[in-house]
Amino acid sequence: MNASLTADEFDAEVIAAFGRHLLVRAADARELRARPAGRRLSIVCGDRVRCEFDRKHDELLIVAVLPRRTLLARANLRGESEPVVANISQLVVVVAPLPQPDWFIVDRYLCAATAAGIAGAVAVNKSDLATNKVDDDELAALARAGYAQLACSAATGAGLDSLKALLAQGTNVLVGQSGVGKSSLVSALLPEVRIETGLLVREEEGRHTTTASRSYPLASGGTLIDSPGVRDFAPAIEQLDSQTLGFPEVDQRASGCRFQDCRHMQEPGCAVVGAVEAGEMSARRYESYRRLRRRYEDLIEARGPGQRHRR
Ligand code: GDP
Ligand code: ZN
Repeated sequence: MNASLTADEFDAEVIAAFGRHLLVRAADARELRARPAGRRLSIVCGDRVRCEFDRKHDELLIVAVLPRRTLLARANLRGESEPVVANISQLVVVVAPLPQPDWFIVDRYLCAATAAGIAGAVAVNKSDLATNKVDDDELAALARAGYAQLACSAATGAGLDSLKALLAQGTNVLVGQSGVGKSSLVSALLPEVRIETGLLVREEEGRHTTTASRSYPLASGGTLIDSPGVRDFAPAIEQLDSQTLGFPEVDQRASGCRFQDCRHMQEPGCAVVGAVEAGEMSARRYESYRRLRRRYEDLIEARGPGQRHRR
C-alpha cells in the first residue's frame, strides 16, 4: 500500500478485461468494476493499476498503468502490436499428436515468451493417443533450448498433476493451435468455473472484437489467465529482441560470431551457423529462426526509417 494515496486512490490488479470493461481486485480482496480514465490507456488482464474513485459519477477510474514486469503483445489486423496480457511469468504451449504440431508456430510462441522475459514450457497433450506420437526429436530440441516439458491427457487425467505442478508458481497462460486441447485442459484445471463474460458486458454492445480475459487462482497454486483470445494470439514479431529473436540457442552463441551485429544468416564466422553444422542446434529450429528473421526484417523495412518502435 502506498501511504501517499488518499482513501479514494489505491492500487489494484486487473483480474478481468473485456475491452474497456475491467474488473480489478484491490489489496483488501474487494473486486470492483472500473474503466480507463482516458482513451490512450491500454489496459489488459494482469496489469497493476492506479485507481481513483470518481465520487461525482460514482465510478472507479483507472488513471495509470503501473510498470509491467512482462508483456505479451499480438499483431492486430493493421499489423500493429497491441498488448494481450501483462505480468505473466510463464507461457505454456500446448501441442498434441493430432492436429500435428506446426513447429514454426510453437517456436513463435516460445520466442515471444523468451524475448519478453517469460519462461516458456511445452505441454504435450493427448498422451492417451497410443498410435500417434509427437516427434521426439523436436521435443528434444526444445528441451535442449531450455524449455520445460511434460506429457498429459485432458481426456484421462494422466499427467495433470505434473501440469498443476508446472503452473503452481506465478501467473501462467496456455496457448497453442486450435484443437490441441487447451479448452479441455482449462476445464480440467478449473472444473468449478464457467466463464461468465456477462458480468462485464452489457448486452446491447454486442461487439465481438475483443474477448474477455480473466485471471483464475488455481486450487493447486499459481494463477491462470485465460480467454479464447489469449489461447491462440499471434505474437507480435516486432516485440522480439532484434539480435536473437527470442531463440535461446542463438543467444548462447551470438557472442562467438565474428561480427557483433551478426544476423546469423550468411555472415562469415557465424557461431550460430557453426552450431547448426556441428549438430548442436537443431537445423529445424534454425530454419524457424531464418523464417522469423525474414519476417522481422520485412516488417522493419515496411515501417521505414524512424518507425521501428512504433506501437
Ligand atoms: P482447443 O481448440 O485447443 O481448445 O481444443 P479443445 O479442448 O476444444 O479440444 C479439441 C478436441 O480434442 C476435442 O474433441 C477434445 O475432446 C479433444 N481432446 C482434448 N484433450 C484430449 C486428450 O487429452 N485426449 C484426446 N484423445 N482428446 C482430447
Ligand atoms: Zn552469427
